[in-house]
Amino acid sequence: MSVVAVIGAQWGDEGKGKIVDLLAERAKAVVRFSGGDNAGHTVINPYGEFRLHLVPSGIFHPGVVCIIGNGVAINPAVLLGEIDDLKKHGVDTSHLFISDRAHIIMPYHILLDGLEEERRGRGALGTTRKGIGPVFADKIARLGIRTCDLLDKEAFQSRLSSVLEFKNAILTKVYDAPPLSLKEIYQQYCHYGESLAPFIRDTGSILQEIMSRRETVLLEGAQGTMLDPDFGTYPYVTSSSPLAAGGSIGSGVSFRQIAHIIGVFKAYTTRVGGGPMPTELKDEIGELIRERAHEYGATTGRPRRCGWFDAVAGRFSIQINGFNSIALTRLDILDTLPSIKICTGYKLDGETLDQFPSNVAILHRCQPVYEELPGWQTSTNNIHDSKQLPSQAHQYIARLEELLSCPVNIISVGAKREQTIMVRQVV
Ligand code: GDP
Repeated sequence: MSVVAVIGAQWGDEGKGKIVDLLAERAKAVVRFSGGDNAGHTVINPYGEFRLHLVPSGIFHPGVVCIIGNGVAINPAVLLGEIDDLKKHGVDTSHLFISDRAHIIMPYHILLDGLEEERRGRGALGTTRKGIGPVFADKIARLGIRTCDLLDKEAFQSRLSSVLEFKNAILTKVYDAPPLSLKEIYQQYCHYGESLAPFIRDTGSILQEIMSRRETVLLEGAQGTMLDPDFGTYPYVTSSSPLAAGGSIGSGVSFRQIAHIIGVFKAYTTRVGGGPMPTELKDEIGELIRERAHEYGATTGRPRRCGWFDAVAGRFSIQINGFNSIALTRLDILDTLPSIKICTGYKLDGETLDQFPSNVAILHRCQPVYEELPGWQTSTNNIHDSKQLPSQAHQYIARLEELLSCPVNIISVGAKREQTIMVRQVV
């Protein structure tokens, strides 16, 4: 198999990192293709516990080429810190490459992210304030600075000087904030450029070469489908596409080369930040799931909103990504519950909707329609074979497969690599 995409199917934090770390054993390359250090993967393996924000989760496999694709927004200080931390833990980073087309987060992006959120007041989007929205806005506005720019100091200085003039006008005239110094930013980013230079490559060509040998490439998604700027709960969305199609644009791999698309779903739903979430549980069950699953953001530490599995959003996610397989994670979190609900439709003004609405004002008014299934109330943490799963867990998974019209090929029952049930081999 050539290219396999691993995509967040809900609102992010589905456990993509664990699935990629696991599948990377059989891959030649792993590519991050969207987002920035607003995404965070937690990976637990024999090297220890890591919170990766930019480096692909395949880094722990020495024979696997790890690429930060052109679709990723890079904060150089964060990336260099992450590389240092990995090295300190004995992880080899010589197989890490960064696209020469990736955009760079500059100090004004971070400043403006915070200032814009504050100005939104009660309508704040709940961004991570890491400059990700502003860097992608600049990419489209043709004001961006890319990794390749850092490699040519003279050209970089002239580009930075014209962009900064514009940004300083906004900082001083709109926000009454002090201007930023060209000299300081230039020197700092020249320094970053020197440190990152050994990693910066035309990564699209590296991938084409790997694919020409028919070796497997994994596209590692960040965030989740329901946060896509086109199809998610706009404007409560992220600023780059977490979809399988985004995997093509953000890596330089043609979408025709993507042979298999895995949608990673949690066995329930979580969401961090603002925006509608029809199945959110604001009661003791939601609290129980949050505490049992330790649902706090890997990047921000913010508590995640928890709720039942939303099959309406799930079907929409399958439709726009074209998943061939589902990886169902965190099934073990439901182990203690006497009964479990699945949202099969939304009720709006007495009518049942089975399509996901485009307008958040409508979504806010939707009431979930639930189906209740019995829980299994026994630990699944040490189960390695699907035949050993309790019958109620089988029933739950079979119902999800039916509602989503997609097979669950991987079941995750714990954070560790070995706590995984491979129902069918996907890579
Ligand atoms: P990602 O960004 O999609 O990789 O997700 P996060 O890293 O934000 O959150 C996933 C968390 O769940 C991490 O702490 C994982 O170690 C953990 N995890 C992954 N799969 C499972 C599972 O099946 N069960 C449990 N209990 N934890 C899991």
